[in-house]
Amino acid sequence: MRFDFTTVLSGLDLAEIKPAGSSIFEMGALGEVLYIVKSGQAEIRVGDLVLETAGEGDLLGEMAILDEQVHQRSASAIALTDCEVVAMNRQRFLELLRANPEVGLEVSKLMVRRLRSTTFLSHHDRLTQLPNRALLSESCDTAVKRAMRRGTTVGVLIADVDNFGKINESLGYQAGDELLLELSKHLRGQLHELDVLARLGANQFAVILEDQTSSQIAAAAEHLRTSLVRPFSAANHDIYVSLSIGISCYPQDGATAAKLIANASAALYAAKEQGRNRCSYFSPELHTLAVETFTLQNYLRSALERNEFFMNYQPRADLSSGRITAVEALLRWRHPELGLVPPGKFIPIAEQAGMIDEIGEWVLRTSCAQQKTWLASGISPFRMAVNLSARQLRHIDLKDRVAAILAETGLDADSLELEITESAVMEDPARTVFLLKELRSLGIGIALDDFGTQYSSLGYLKQFPLDYMKIDQCFVRGIPTSNDDSAITKTIITLAKNLRLRVIAEGVETQEQMAFLVEHGCEEVQGYLFSRPLAGDAAEAMLIANLGKPA
Ligand code: C2E
Ligand code: MG
Ligand code: MG
Repeated sequence: MRFDFTTVLSGLDLAEIKPAGSSIFEMGALGEVLYIVKSGQAEIRVGDLVLETAGEGDLLGEMAILDEQVHQRSASAIALTDCEVVAMNRQRFLELLRANPEVGLEVSKLMVRRLRSTTFLSHHDRLTQLPNRALLSESCDTAVKRAMRRGTTVGVLIADVDNFGKINESLGYQAGDELLLELSKHLRGQLHELDVLARLGANQFAVILEDQTSSQIAAAAEHLRTSLVRPFSAANHDIYVSLSIGISCYPQDGATAAKLIANASAALYAAKEQGRNRCSYFSPELHTLAVETFTLQNYLRSALERNEFFMNYQPRADLSSGRITAVEALLRWRHPELGLVPPGKFIPIAEQAGMIDEIGEWVLRTSCAQQKTWLASGISPFRMAVNLSARQLRHIDLKDRVAAILAETGLDADSLELEITESAVMEDPARTVFLLKELRSLGIGIALDDFGTQYSSLGYLKQFPLDYMKIDQCFVRGIPTSNDDSAITKTIITLAKNLRLRVIAEGVETQEQMAFLVEHGCEEVQGYLFSRPLAGDAAEAMLIANLGKPA
């Protein structure tokens, strides 16, 4: 079957690229031509691009082209449920080509790959149904390419079950298989649904981690290793197993799947040499980072009890009146030995170690109580903006948790704003829409933080109940000298206005940046130029000076 970019561009004769065994469907009302590929004949895999999906002729959902997380999740869901899938949507594909030929080219390549009818089994392990080595390399290549574009990190973990040979010998191969199956389920359960877990060989598994920092990757590996505390049952025996894990990361340890996998294997070999049941890193920097991560994790565990956390508040102001509209609550951690640890360092670690819920509640309670005190003292109304982490968004009862803290502190919901980063929101957009609507129903304002750094699905963006959009500092830093940053900032301002959101620029440090923002219609600013984050007392003084307070 021939299928290349030129064919797609000239005339888009879909019939020509129709995979064998599939049929073309006219979706009458929608006017879209779709391919229905019979399950088993073609497979949609993580990393493939799916524009529309259908099960038994029904349109299941519409996916944004650049929203890779959504399409990844859907793709893996499709592969799992083995339903009938649809290859492409002519209209959208054409639009994509026009808007972004480069992406279009990539899409068409992916399509070619996908349309090569393959069976599920040639890419999956029979026993565990996990992806096999071939699929792992492909997924890893895709992950690396994505990371190159985004400037992010990819972690490759290769895990080996220690002493597996002995288990096989003493209990028999069937018990060995049972154990591996149990173990594969366990490992899958420890990972995020977007992480790739593959089986490489008899007793070897591999994991690909995307969108995580090196320290999060280190923590995830350690978590996998230490999660094997319970015994697994096989052949009526309780068997305790341990894992040795080798870790490599893009970009430090290689820029191709082959290199990363080879280096993770080398690290695994070192872990085995050092006595098994341990994690080992290919590069020394990663090793240092891992040690640092675990030290911080341990210190963090006692930080709440020891009152090592405190809040800073950074005011932001309306550009036309100069009045403070809100203060952002920013968490600070002072450790007796380490001194002040930046939140960019400890928050990801707290997230990974499952401590962010407790810390997040403390932040919300402390900030709401502070806000209540300030408003009760007579300072004119302004709002308190509190950051929520991605993990807090996973709680389906988030609304109740927040409502309980509002009730406890006596703060009105409309004095509170919650800031949620674009990346957190896009982790599970459908769920987030639901959670944010619930929070909004209480009267809480919602801000989309660090906007512009991720690939957002514009389709979802429309659905999120938002009040504010905060332009990420990295763009603000470049204005007005960088043409790119200036163009992006202007685009975000326009986008926010079209979505009827108030737009806030973060990290404004200079008069020139401020002038540019005023000129292009930005509504609020936050940054060192107006005020640094301040301790409670200093923030109070600034609030009174700016907003006034009856004597
Ligand atoms: P963010 O929410 O985007 O907060 C803004 C960050 O920009 C703050 O960094 C602030 O101090 C810094 N900043 C403000 N103005 C300027 C400026 O003009 N120039 C520069 N260079 N920086 C400026 P900070 O306090 O280090 O916090 C970093 C990030 O940590 C925050 O980014 C937020 O994502 C997270 N964070 C802070 N406190 C909390 C919290 O209580 N909970 C959660 N989940 N995350 C928090
Ligand atoms: Mg924020
Ligand atoms: Mg921000």
